[in-house]
Amino acid sequence: MEKLNNGEKIVVAEGYIFQFERRCYLKAGPFVPVVVLERPDLVKQLHHEFVRAGSDVVQAFTYYSHREKMKLINREGDLEKMNRMALKIAREVADETGTLMAGDICSTNLYDPKDPKKNEAVKQCFVEQVQWAVEEGADFIVAETLSCLGEALIALEVIKEYGNGVPAVITLVVHGREHDEVNAYTLDDVEITEAMKRLEAAGADVVGLNCARGPETIIPLMEKIKKSGVKVPLAALPVTYRTTKAEPTFMRLTDPRTGKKLFPTDLDCAMSSRSDIVEFGRRCDEIGIPYLGLCCGNSPHYTRALCESIGRRPPASKYSPDMSLHCIFGTDDKLNTFLTKNAVDRIVS
Ligand SMILES: [Zn+2]
Repeated sequence: MEKLNNGEKIVVAEGYIFQFERRCYLKAGPFVPVVVLERPDLVKQLHHEFVRAGSDVVQAFTYYSHREKMKLINREGDLEKMNRMALKIAREVADETGTLMAGDICSTNLYDPKDPKKNEAVKQCFVEQVQWAVEEGADFIVAETLSCLGEALIALEVIKEYGNGVPAVITLVVHGREHDEVNAYTLDDVEITEAMKRLEAAGADVVGLNCARGPETIIPLMEKIKKSGVKVPLAALPVTYRTTKAEPTFMRLTDPRTGKKLFPTDLDCAMSSRSDIVEFGRRCDEIGIPYLGLCCGNSPHYTRALCESIGRRPPASKYSPDMSLHCIFGTDDKLNTFLTKNAVDRIVS
């Protein structure tokens, strides 16, 4: 938080669930990160890949490792083990790389704004995960993809009460209303800038949005939040898909060919380009968003592009593109001019 208060930026790689689903180590649908138990080596490797690509934070892969999800797949008995393993791996990588380690809690899927009796179960989900995160040495705690302000306030209250003083980063997910770009509300019907202000007033150290919206449709909301006068540092972590004004979230995206919904396993055809990510980084810079990152869909090459968009050269930039050496588009003297000069029009025009 010191970094953020000094005006420095923090880049945070999220998106582990979708990344491991694409690698076939967890199931779309329940989206429970069993890969932590089954292949901890791969989780460790992905953390390293994201740090190499420029992430300043190793976010423990405890997304959806909460009691409700573990019940759903009949593995409640593995709950603590899975959380502690994920946290230990993250701590290890953070120590090895000199980065920060974040504990991670997320929407419990238990919350119901019309049924306050459920609040206690929601709270208990958060309490155990926050306690484990603190015991395993988290530098701060992220509460993410919360679609109701009420649930976000419970998460924040738990971090304040059980977090041993570590900072709280709270990011809401805005599912939005169709054809309505900026008048966004939480699922418990709180206007988004109002929700941010209430989180700030309740003591959140960083507030913002993550998930659901792609770079193009998260930016107008972030601008609105910035203009509303929230004073704590802002966070923006979109999904890496080409959401649009008409389809502002990745759950709404449809296939331009078939008209069918893309979520979750056909989203590939709507992936952001690296240039989209660079543009997102540039816009965050303009607006003044210091905590930036990428959520579902993220991969090391996107995180690297984001870092480079704000003038960084992480270790992975060693292999950033150099088209001057390309066999057809290149300009280097050693290249065969038959391809670069004589045949280039026949190949690409
Ligand atoms: Zn996401």
